[in-house]
Parts: sequence; C-alpha cells; structure tokens
Amino acid sequence: MVAKRMDGIKMSGIRKMFEKANKDAIHLGLGEPDFPPPPEAIEALVQAAKDGNSRYSSIFGLEPLREEVAKYLKNYKPDITKDDVLVTVGGSEGLMCTAGSLYDPGDEVLMPDPGFVLYAPHARLMGAKPVFYSLTMDNDFQPQQDELQSLVTKKTKAIIVNSPANPTGGVFGEKEVRMIIDLAKENDLVIITDEVYDHVIYEGKHISFLGKYDKVVYVNSFSKTFAMPGWRVGFLTAPKEIFERIATYHYYILACAPNPNQLAVLAALKKGFYYAEKMTKEFKERRKLIVDLLNEIPGFTANMPKGAFYSMPRFEKKVEDTAVAMKILEAGVVCTPGSAFGLHGKSHLRFSYASSKDNIKNGVAKVAEAWKKV
Ligand code: PLP
Repeated sequence: MVAKRMDGIKMSGIRKMFEKANKDAIHLGLGEPDFPPPPEAIEALVQAAKDGNSRYSSIFGLEPLREEVAKYLKNYKPDITKDDVLVTVGGSEGLMCTAGSLYDPGDEVLMPDPGFVLYAPHARLMGAKPVFYSLTMDNDFQPQQDELQSLVTKKTKAIIVNSPANPTGGVFGEKEVRMIIDLAKENDLVIITDEVYDHVIYEGKHISFLGKYDKVVYVNSFSKTFAMPGWRVGFLTAPKEIFERIATYHYYILACAPNPNQLAVLAALKKGFYYAEKMTKEFKERRKLIVDLLNEIPGFTANMPKGAFYSMPRFEKKVEDTAVAMKILEAGVVCTPGSAFGLHGKSHLRFSYASSKDNIKNGVAKVAEAWKKV
C-alpha cells in the first residue's frame, strides 16, 4: 500500500531519544538554543498577528525581508539582490527543495559522515545515492582531499558541506574550503552549503562558500541565529537556473513561509546580529565547561569544538553507541548516539550544550555514573 520510496527511511535517532525521555530528563539532545527569540521579534510577531497578517505571502517571501537578507549576503557575494533570495520554511525545507530540484535517480551526492540527519534521506527520496566522506576526530573533523578525490565518479552531481558543523562542532579551515571549491570546479559539481550555524563560531570569522564559485546553493536559517527553531523561517540563494526550480518546488510543497513569522524575523534582522553574538558568548563558556567535564570521564575523549553548540566525544569501550545512549537516558539525560549521524559517528555520543550550565554540570555527572554501569 505504501510508496516504495520511503522503504528504509526511518525516523531520525535524535527524535527517537527525545521521544523516549521522561519529563524530568535533562535535555542535551536536541539542537535548539535555550534562549527566547529576540524581544523585537516577539513584539513584531504579536503585532503582525493583531494587524491581520494572516494571508499567504509571496511565494518568494516578503520583499523587505528578502532585501534585508540580500544586504547580509552581499558580504559574500556583492552582486546579489533580493531577486536571488527565497524565504523558506527553515533550512530543512531549503535543503529538501534543493534535493528535489537537483538530484536525478542514479546521481551520487557527496555528504559528510557524520553529518546532519536530513542529507542522506533527501538524496534517497529522490532516487540519488548518498556517498559519504568522513569527518573524524583524529583529523579535527576536517574533510580529507585524497578521500574526496577518490569518491568522485562520473555520476557525482553535488557535494554537501556544513561548516560550522552539526554534529561534530567542526569548522572547515580556509585550506579545506579552497580544496572543496577546486574539487567542485574540476568535476563540475554543485556545492550545497548548509551554513545555519554561521553565527555560532568561536574563533575567527565565518568562511562562507557563497561567492567563491558559481554553482553554489547556499542554505541558511533563522532557527539558530535568532533562537526560533519552532518559527520555521530560513532562506536560500542559488544560481538563476537552479533557483527557479527550487522556488517552484517550494511552491508545490508549502506555498510560502508563515507570513507573521517573516515579519518577526525582519524586525530582528533590522537590529543586526547582536542577539546571536550574545548567545554565542554564552555558548563559548558552556563549551569549555562541557568539554572539560566530559574529558574527566575515564574513557571519554572530547575535542574543543570550533563552532555550533555540540560536543561529540569518543568513548573507548567496545559497545554500541545506542546502548550507551540508552543507559544515559535511563540515568535521566537525553543525548544522541553518534551513529544517528552516520557510520563514523559510532563510538561517539553527541551532546548539545545549548542548555544551562547547571544542566550541563548535573547532566554530565549523570553521564559519568551511567558510563560506569556500561
Ligand atoms: N542544517 C543543520 C546542520 C542543522 O543542524 C539544522 C537543524 O538542526 C538544520 C539544517 C535545519 O534547521 P531548520 O530547519 O530549523 O532551519
């Protein structure tokens, strides 16, 4: 009765743990900031509802918002205009519309392992084949040129990059960004760059793929930047030919992003990124706290993440990561088994430190206790 295309496509391992948690559990599982959205966004949302903004917006999104986004993207690509910007229902929808507009059955798509949980199912749904490149702690979660070159075939259509990265917290260096651009140029690949954590970066400046090569689909979101994952607003830009397809795909699944939420985002954007900077300052303190505490657990090794708000320690016992995560859940802490993000995630757990310092301290203490029983 059901469509074959969904065979083998399962619920993500992040959600599974979340749904098994009891109500008093400490959540170090989901990747959502524990801050409220900026006050000006909340006010604008209420006002937008009161003012009767309950209709559809343009398919592409509200023009003033597209203009504001274009202003931001000019930092990377000076000739961008609002006509190159599509407002989406979060980065997730942007990624899905990109997959639907780009991948043909039989195409191969390079993607990180471990990597964000949507990339591979999106490819499979389109009949394309995910081909994984590894990001390992020993390589500081950086992509390796030799491996990437060995994975490219005549069928390779695109490469997905995500820096700062979920789940590793890695940030690609300048050398790696250049290497991927050269690889894409040499093999005529589209680069799909997921930059939803561009404001959560702890050292130096964010390096975007946008503006460095002509075949770049750039996906971003306000979920993390303005602490509003449930408000579901994101944006993307792409070369004209791809952009038009993506916008059409977007129309057929969602018509437009929620109108009041777009107005709320616009109000926040007009104030700049002070709020993201404030959150990142706090995340930086939590980062050190959680990494130090995790490294105190015998058999755990955590590196210092350079961006995003995840720590992905490796553990040394020969035991399934799902079993370890279940023990930790029984002790009252939600985390995510590394294998939820790919084969190279095995022997790792992912902890989100978008949670209070008390939660981090109490949570990691429970992890240490649970670990003794594994
Ligand atoms: N990309 C990455 C790497 C993510 O971690 C997430 C969310 O966790 C998303 C995209 C999608 O976010 P949203 O759909 O809320 O914009």
